[in-house]
Amino acid sequence: MHNSERSSRGVLDELSKLQASLDLLQTESLKTNAEQLHQQLEDLNKRMEEIAQDHGRPRPAAQASDASGQKGARARITEMSAEVVDSNPYSRLMALQRMGIVHNYQRIREKTVAIVGVGGVGSVAAEMLTRCGIGRLLLYDYDKVELANMNRLFFRPDQAGMTKTDAAAQTLQDINPDVAIESFTMNITTLKGFDEFKASVCDNRGDSRVDLVLSCVDNYEARMTINQVCLELQQNWMESGVSEDAVSGHIQVIIPGETACFACVPPLVVASGIDERTLKREGVCAASLPTTMGIIAGLLVQNSLKYLLDFGQVTRYLGYSSLKDFFPSMEIKPNPGCPNPLCGKLQAAYEAQYNSEAAVSARAASAAAAAEVAEEEVVHDDNSWGISVVPEEASAGQGVPAQSAPSMGALAEGLEYSMPVADPHAPELSNGHSEEQESQENIEDLMSQLNALSTK
Ligand SMILES: [Zn+2]
Repeated sequence: MHNSERSSRGVLDELSKLQASLDLLQTESLKTNAEQLHQQLEDLNKRMEEIAQDHGRPRPAAQASDASGQKGARARITEMSAEVVDSNPYSRLMALQRMGIVHNYQRIREKTVAIVGVGGVGSVAAEMLTRCGIGRLLLYDYDKVELANMNRLFFRPDQAGMTKTDAAAQTLQDINPDVAIESFTMNITTLKGFDEFKASVCDNRGDSRVDLVLSCVDNYEARMTINQVCLELQQNWMESGVSEDAVSGHIQVIIPGETACFACVPPLVVASGIDERTLKREGVCAASLPTTMGIIAGLLVQNSLKYLLDFGQVTRYLGYSSLKDFFPSMEIKPNPGCPNPLCGKLQAAYEAQYNSEAAVSARAASAAAAAEVAEEEVVHDDNSWGISVVPEEASAGQGVPAQSAPSMGALAEGLEYSMPVADPHAPELSNGHSEEQESQENIEDLMSQLNALSTK
């Protein structure tokens, strides 16, 4: 009796305690419960987004799964904010808008760029565009990451053995999960590769779905493939290259019909006369520097941003010679005798459009508007600092006016063709070179060939 009395009292005590805590929960904790639920819901949403994103992206190779960096990755952001807080990855980019450099920075999210070749230049260009918040990136390469690539930027030793496309997609997705990344492990120079490459940059109506193609390949055949696909799709693209001796490079904008295509003139290199094909022999390896490749990638993406977001002036051809820090720029007009018949057709179409009544009057109107703006500009003829503003054209010197007569331009000083010029329409080789300069270059040529032989 005594025991059962005690136990029933115990149960009653328990019950009243439970009742009390229930009351407490209902009164005090209702608000916190709602907050917790809201937090849980947010966490779930975030997780669902991550899963959806993982689903659409290529699987990284198994051995590097521990290095995928998922733990540090941030959640996706739906809208670029200009808010100046430490947690906003876009505040510094949106500041370009506030400072009047870019009219509408957020438009970058609507842009798609294809990068062909994810090597020393392409991988760095991809990282730059990813950090800038590009909408979509299409990556192409057939190669694998090797330890021999570690003198360049971007790839890490633990990624050795992975395909460059998978390794790049993994790193880029972690850096910025807002970018949609598609990777294609393929060799575009094969017949099958050509068709697959062309199909991959097209939408289901057969039109190009990309805003710009960046060529970051290291061989002539791949450049000719990109050239053909871009001519067929009337797709604007930018070509880039770094010389085999690692000390010079260039970027070139190609607008089918309007500028020279890649077949119009032999490939240009700066201060280097080495045929890349002679350097592909077994055991002979081209030099490369992270500096030159990083600089060329920077110039390429800088011009891509200007092109995509419509600010500044897009340089049609920009060379870089590191030994003298020389940056020649020039315009390369299309070659009327281009061996590619499609290029000829597009040239004729461009010329007809350029000379059409509508285009002529539109140019006249914009010239008149520009003149009016120039007249209205306030001249500060008196300032205590003695600072004067010099028009850019006057100081640049090497720039070629965009609206010059449509003819083949001569090469800027310091530039020469890397391949023999077979085309009778192509410009002269030794423009502006004295005989003395030429003989000096021949000696340098011989020296570099000798050096190449001795390193065999
Ligand atoms: Zn051409």
